[in-house]
Amino acid sequence: MRSQIKLGRIFGIEIGLHYSWFLIALLIVFSLSSQFHASNPAWGDGVILGLSITTGILFFVSLLLHELAHSLVAASNGLPVREITLFALGGVSQIEKNPTSAKIEFWMAFVGPLTSAVIGATCLTIGAALGGASSNPGMAMLSWLGYINLGLAAFNLIPGYPLDGGRVLRAIVWWKTGDADRSTKTAARVGQAVAFVFIALGILRYFGGAGIGGLWIAFIGWFLLQASRESYVQVDLVHALQGVRVADVMTHDCPTVEGWLNVQNFVEHELLRSGQRCFIVMEQGKVSGLVTPQEVMRLDRAKMPFTTVSDIMRPLEDLRSLTPDAPLTAAMEAMSRYDLNQLPVLSDGHLEGVLSRANVISYLQTRAELRA
Ligand SMILES: [Zn+2]
Repeated sequence: MRSQIKLGRIFGIEIGLHYSWFLIALLIVFSLSSQFHASNPAWGDGVILGLSITTGILFFVSLLLHELAHSLVAASNGLPVREITLFALGGVSQIEKNPTSAKIEFWMAFVGPLTSAVIGATCLTIGAALGGASSNPGMAMLSWLGYINLGLAAFNLIPGYPLDGGRVLRAIVWWKTGDADRSTKTAARVGQAVAFVFIALGILRYFGGAGIGGLWIAFIGWFLLQASRESYVQVDLVHALQGVRVADVMTHDCPTVEGWLNVQNFVEHELLRSGQRCFIVMEQGKVSGLVTPQEVMRLDRAKMPFTTVSDIMRPLEDLRSLTPDAPLTAAMEAMSRYDLNQLPVLSDGHLEGVLSRANVISYLQTRAELRA
């Protein structure tokens, strides 16, 4: 989940929105305004719209505070946070490393729901102290924000990994057994069970007449199921790749191509003829970047004879390069984080080879066949 719209930085952490967030923002504003229209039609259209939008924005702020709490605990424990992305189902903090101890994991996870609970309780307390009449627009807003944040805290504490509650569960199992891998698997299994309950409940409610609300619950369940399955598989994957270095699986004899070649010639004489998926671009005897079918496809066909390979390549500066003795797991993390299919492998500025996702997959296949 990557941000598509950048909003700025808080404490050095990039804050962004995924397009799907607008869907939920619209849904919140619509449902709030229809709720206010039904309960207090006397407020008038202008007040109701303004109130719905303000409430929506404050909800957004409270989600952000929840994520910031996770991120700040991570950062203060030496785990760098790249960005916070808000999307249709809430927020995600992209924390670059896994927690190194059960205690850090516990606090990192628990502080999110705790923040939401504190925000919720504060809103309700202020509302009650000021009289609590929900016929007043300000009070209605406080009460809605209060309950939604308490709801958010409760939902996030459901022990289904990767929800916060699942992470808390993982931290507890980790602490009790001292086995980080086993704790992930246990938490992921519970996460799958929770996901199935959500899906079943959603379908039952849908056929019970709850309409779109039922489907929404089923959708959240499906999302959880995918996420917990992935984390389960990842543990096995990390195991299979333990001790393997980039140099063990990379392609050594990567074809090179001159940067001044035009794309038309490159496609006809190199790409199609060789069947290779990745070429190293050379400029004046030096490696300057990589070019793959991906870059070629982005170029307009008519422009191919007038564009050089250098124009469309991914320059070396933009690519994260690897060293031959880097662990393969770190390389795979880098590939998925930066959404790359290939990475050049350099040692002392000299090109040693290229690592691609395909290399990793064929390594895993060979391993699986040998074991079978
Ligand atoms: Zn959270």
